[in-house]
Amino acid sequence: MNALPSWLTDKRLSEDLEPLLAPTDDGSLEMLAAEAQAITLRRFGRIISLYAPLYLSNFCSSGCAYCGFASDRTAPRRRLEFDEIEKELTAMKALGIGDALLLTGERTSAVGFDYLRRAVEIAAKVMPRVAVEAFPMTVAEYRALAEAGCTGITIYQETYDPENYAKLHRWGPKRDFLERLETPERALQGGIRSVGIGALLGLSEPVGEALALARHVRHLCRTYWKAGVSVSFPRIRPQEGGYQPAFTVDDRFLARMIFAFRIGMPDVDLVLSTRESPAFRDGMAGLGITRMSIASRTTVGGYHDADSAGATQFEVSDDRSAEAFCAALRAKNLEPVFKNWDAAYNGPISEKESLCR
Ligand code: SF4
Repeated sequence: MNALPSWLTDKRLSEDLEPLLAPTDDGSLEMLAAEAQAITLRRFGRIISLYAPLYLSNFCSSGCAYCGFASDRTAPRRRLEFDEIEKELTAMKALGIGDALLLTGERTSAVGFDYLRRAVEIAAKVMPRVAVEAFPMTVAEYRALAEAGCTGITIYQETYDPENYAKLHRWGPKRDFLERLETPERALQGGIRSVGIGALLGLSEPVGEALALARHVRHLCRTYWKAGVSVSFPRIRPQEGGYQPAFTVDDRFLARMIFAFRIGMPDVDLVLSTRESPAFRDGMAGLGITRMSIASRTTVGGYHDADSAGATQFEVSDDRSAEAFCAALRAKNLEPVFKNWDAAYNGPISEKESLCR
């Protein structure tokens, strides 16, 4: 492997977060929560922006040990055809969802770039905001995707520990640690307006992962200062394949990590998905978290026709309806927002109007 980028090992980029992540029993967690809540209120008000994932396909060419869609799993494979994508999006729209995240596995002959671009075009006609969580692409491909209506991408590094990364990514294109690490930058260079990053918590030692993630966020924010950067905090959930996480990430550590990121990075959207329990999600909303998924299906499709959706990538923990979840947020005096993006902002950032310094 080529040398790691200097920002990944530059501890100065994360030294302020290190003491905040140290576990203590002296009530510091409650103090961090209060500080994180005050910062969140000042910067984001009471708004929680909502989105929902739509899995387009479970074809995949990679062998990630922790994933129910890895290419050695025996579950049947399928992709949504374009008419099915329209039906799924219409069903999502009927739930009030205006912000869709389209997901696929690694590139295959069944699901490649042309398929994904067409799916984005269809989605952009129905949804004000469309983002993609899929395989790494070239700058030119990201530009074409942005022109089709994609405003954001999500790409988790999964683990920032190169040795663990090599063990967990058993085969396929995702084995290339550096290629994945550089993907958010290629997307921004291609005109995508926002990137979401994260580590899959439980794969490697959690404090080290949190610090490396913080360095990644700061590198992106400093280099592409006009871009939107968001951070997710996924913990491993049960999945077909039965992978057991090597490290435990309990609720107190995850809460501490969220508070530390909010305090250290006041302007960054912090995201919590339905992987987490209703109690944890309700507790974290507004205490640092500003963006949440709702009514998620982790099957291929599943909004229009739940019965034929097939195997899940992982089990969700919070399966409340959109209505029930919004009621819980309002009960906390928070304001759920389905559309936090104007379609006038869609389309790529022009090369002239570079995101980079
Ligand atoms: S995590 Fe993504 S790339 Fe890895 S096996 Fe699952 S779908 Fe494929």
